[in-house]
Amino acid sequence: MVAMIFTYAASGRPVEKGKRGMNCGRLDAIRRLGGMMMAAAMALSLLAAPADAGTAPPRPKLFIVISVDQFSAALFDQYRSRFSAGLKRLETQGVVFPNGYQSHAATETCPGHSTLLTGRHPSATGIIANDWRDRATGRNVYCVFDPSHTVPGRADQPRGPANLRVSTFGDWLKAADPRSRVVGVSGKDRAAIMMTGHHPDAVFWWDDERGFNTYVPAGRTAAAQLKPVAGFNDRLFAQWHGRPPAWQPIDSRCGTLAGPHSYGDFTIDHRVPPPMNGNGDFMRDAATRQWFRASPALDSVTMALAEKLIVEMKLGRGPAPDLLAISLSATDYIGHLYGNQGPEMCDQLAHLDRLIGTLLDRLDAMGITALVTLSADHGSIDAAERVAERGFAAERTSPAAMVKAISRSVRDSLKLDFDPLAGDGQQFYVTSSGSDPALKGRIIAAAVAALKRHAEIAAIFTADEIAATTPPRDKPVDELTLAERMAESYDAQRSGDILVAYRPYMSFGIPSPGRRAIAGHGSPWNYDRRVPILFWWPGVQGFEQALPVETVDIAPTLAGLAGITPPPVDGVCRDLDRGSASSCPITHEPE
Ligand code: ZN
Repeated sequence: MVAMIFTYAASGRPVEKGKRGMNCGRLDAIRRLGGMMMAAAMALSLLAAPADAGTAPPRPKLFIVISVDQFSAALFDQYRSRFSAGLKRLETQGVVFPNGYQSHAATETCPGHSTLLTGRHPSATGIIANDWRDRATGRNVYCVFDPSHTVPGRADQPRGPANLRVSTFGDWLKAADPRSRVVGVSGKDRAAIMMTGHHPDAVFWWDDERGFNTYVPAGRTAAAQLKPVAGFNDRLFAQWHGRPPAWQPIDSRCGTLAGPHSYGDFTIDHRVPPPMNGNGDFMRDAATRQWFRASPALDSVTMALAEKLIVEMKLGRGPAPDLLAISLSATDYIGHLYGNQGPEMCDQLAHLDRLIGTLLDRLDAMGITALVTLSADHGSIDAAERVAERGFAAERTSPAAMVKAISRSVRDSLKLDFDPLAGDGQQFYVTSSGSDPALKGRIIAAAVAALKRHAEIAAIFTADEIAATTPPRDKPVDELTLAERMAESYDAQRSGDILVAYRPYMSFGIPSPGRRAIAGHGSPWNYDRRVPILFWWPGVQGFEQALPVETVDIAPTLAGLAGITPPPVDGVCRDLDRGSASSCPITHEPE
């Protein structure tokens, strides 16, 4: 028996204290019964609920899933009243979950994208970080390293989905009907590959030197795989020869956030457009390319390619539903380079709003019935210096330096003749020289003792502690303990031997002219976990549900709308139709 509490928002839109593993839908049933109810009564009412016609989402011909890299729920809340174009349509007309969660602790791009269309936490997707350590070789493994696929012009950087241990919504669509096409476009390889899964028809990501690039499955040729982008890339580079992409400010209100700030001995003017660090020669200058990636221009070219593929591949016009996954990376690059509370992010979100508006207008004009989903791979926190200005105890720390310091301390205390620890500072791995079980236990104990002496560290867990932690399936995601969040992104083979959380509001790394990133993400704190989740389609009768849901709910929700049954997943199908007709199969009801 499960008791559920239902309340009504001031708007009259029903909301519910949502637990994980439980459908929040059937809002007509909620309205009829109201107040507090027991599951048995609810189940009976659900079985009796008539399937009214009229407001159910159409069975979409095209699913467009947009991930805005680093688009925190806090940024969405902060700017939603300013949106006037595409994001306004999504947030005023659509189904809005302002408190979506990337449930896990390792809030990086690859794990976050791995949850969006699999319905699984990173503990199941295997994508526990952007990079992890291969214990056998001691080598770093990038999450989309895949020696079974080549990448044109990148002989030393094979890419593909081999490390993704589960299937995606796109894989399910193709299994249900092989005529479904699965297409992905992103500024980043890891985002495009995680969202499109194991059998994409086309997947492209931005490569500074080559334009949009892809991986080549066995039996295909590079020329064939690159055909959809070959002319597109050539035209871009021809256009940028001598005239690099520009950043035209479009929201003058962002000027109130302008002004110089110092980060260590590094100062940023904080104005829009940000001054270009490079010499403007896109074709030859790495600093110019970095400036480009951290500008709205990267999203513009990504969306331009997405729109081209809609037209040329006739997405949404085939006999079976298609998936177009778009991950827009500029918000993330801007957040890292300039922080998320400056005029740069303010103007970027205005560009994003406009860009999505143009996409929706074009879909309207083409008469394509698309169901648009928008969410993010993780949130972020502003640079510690500006967070501190607002009264929070925010500082900088260097996780890389922490690894070195702890390794040295353990080496000295145990009188070892090798460095016993490696990792990124959030995950510590005992190196292979220390892998003898008895010695490994002593190294871990000594490292934990050394870590406890550092005030910037909030919590330390051994892999054994996290492996023994099972997040309760019916616990609301905003109530997970730190250990439970870490368990959601723990994998026995790939995760570290010690997992560390730094105190809230910490910025990682010390900025300098050579290392210009001032802010980021990756922590288990809610500013990095909480992201908006929006659904929209033409004619949607939207509502807003403020209580927490999860990004792992997106894939089963889309599966419900597509009329296909997903494999077992961690998320649940969320009804999007205000209960008048179910967009979720009855099998997802709580028992
Ligand atoms: Zn990201």
